[in-house]
Amino acid sequence: MSRASWPQFITDVFDHAAPVGASTFDVKNPATGAVLGTVADMTAADARQAVADARGAFKAWSQETAKSRTAAMMAWHDLIVAHVDELAQLLTLEMGKPLMEAKGEILHGASYITWFAEEAKRLYGDIIPTNAPGRRLMVVKQPIGVVAAITPWNFPSAMIMRKVAPAIAAGCTVVIKPAEDTPLSAVALVLLAKRAGLPDDVIKLVTCSQPAEVAKALTDHPDVRKLSFTGSTRVGKLLMRNCANTVKKVSLELGGNAPFIVFDDADLDQAADAAMLAKFRNAGQTCISANRFLVQIGVYEAFAAKLEARVAALTLGDGMAPETTVGPLINDGAVSKVESLVRHAAACGAEVRTGGYAVDGQGTFFPPTILTGGTPDLTIADTEIFGPVAALYRFKDEDEAVRVANDTPYGLASYVFTQDMGRIWRVSEALEYGMVAVNEGTVSSEAAPFGGVKESGIGREGSRYGLDEFVEIKYIGIGGL
Ligand code: NAD
Repeated sequence: MSRASWPQFITDVFDHAAPVGASTFDVKNPATGAVLGTVADMTAADARQAVADARGAFKAWSQETAKSRTAAMMAWHDLIVAHVDELAQLLTLEMGKPLMEAKGEILHGASYITWFAEEAKRLYGDIIPTNAPGRRLMVVKQPIGVVAAITPWNFPSAMIMRKVAPAIAAGCTVVIKPAEDTPLSAVALVLLAKRAGLPDDVIKLVTCSQPAEVAKALTDHPDVRKLSFTGSTRVGKLLMRNCANTVKKVSLELGGNAPFIVFDDADLDQAADAAMLAKFRNAGQTCISANRFLVQIGVYEAFAAKLEARVAALTLGDGMAPETTVGPLINDGAVSKVESLVRHAAACGAEVRTGGYAVDGQGTFFPPTILTGGTPDLTIADTEIFGPVAALYRFKDEDEAVRVANDTPYGLASYVFTQDMGRIWRVSEALEYGMVAVNEGTVSSEAAPFGGVKESGIGREGSRYGLDEFVEIKYIGIGGL
């Protein structure tokens, strides 16, 4: 799509992304390498100003009735849905995923806005039975204050909505720092919030090319009372350390190393269909991507064959092309990392059944790949691949499957395929993961708690548990009654 033919809304987003006179940085289309446009390159001082503005807006916003906050959020939601096609185009242009997936991401993200807009009305406190005559014990839930939301490039729209919706529903104000590869989706969402009539400064945006400096300004700031971060475990640990100085509440949604366990008694077509979703959606660049396919010996070859047939039907290409089912990876670094993992696995004896090596030419494309015959001690098995590579490993029995699945510092999503109800319970309870998907290929929903254990994170997003992350619990005791 040429710039001249962009819809008016996309042009508006570019106008807002880089105010006249601001220093800027370039945003590129990973499918072509072309510069899409420029975005304001904000500094630590800008971040501190954004916090001051958000702090200024906090009192009035937190004192609005829940009903009035709900109405403002619903207006934002409705504008997002009305602009879903342009938002999806923008997302695909800056991030690469196929247009249909981008549209799905926008609508999925928007579902968090309606969910939390409704949930805000039910943010109940408690009256506790008294422990002494003449005394009453009450618990109220109050918004925590200014929230810093730091988000990754792989879901540049949904990750923002999943954080901002519960925060503003609870009565908090938010400063968003989006990933430097994908700031345009953030600019678009904030522009729509403004058009929907959300008060100025309830949602602030700090786009920048130097995340360390800006994130430090946010995590150092005493008026930021909560950090909600989604990204790598490495950066999550660093930010958590920074937050310790001012003892902020933190939620961290970090990396994963999801096992995808297929037992002999599984419905293999169901498992292979789910594998396509769990592995190849977003070109494998999701924190809940299946990273290790653990397949029981008796069905190993049959499952590999079914997966291979489905992978053959995928089309790699520019996400803007309607036939594309797998887009480019985010940048050159991602391609080299994925390719080196595959080369190393092949050198250690794994068989590259299909795909395997980067595609020459424009863009950052890596073909859907299947590796068989590897062992769980390979580097690729304990690294978050973040690419369209399905690596299959054999196991003998249930104990071995659970042991290998849990043998990682990560604990985000896991997948289990079996028809045995007893095994469903046993394995689900034994897996050291925040989420277990049984006989299905996805776990993300606005109605369910999303999050990890171990080094995959702290806290939950979505569901009523997601709202608790943005409130303080206050006890009020009244004596002398
Ligand atoms: P990343 O950690 O490099 O970046 C995430 C955010 O942190 C970005 O906004 C980035 O600008 C910022 N950042 C980068 N370096 C920083 C630094 N030194 N100091 C402060 N901030 C810094 O991660 P990414 O590559 O953008 O995203 C991929 C990672 O995110 C993967 O590990 C993936 O599993 C994880 N992820 C997790 C979830 C989840 O819900 N658990 C969801 C999506 C992605």
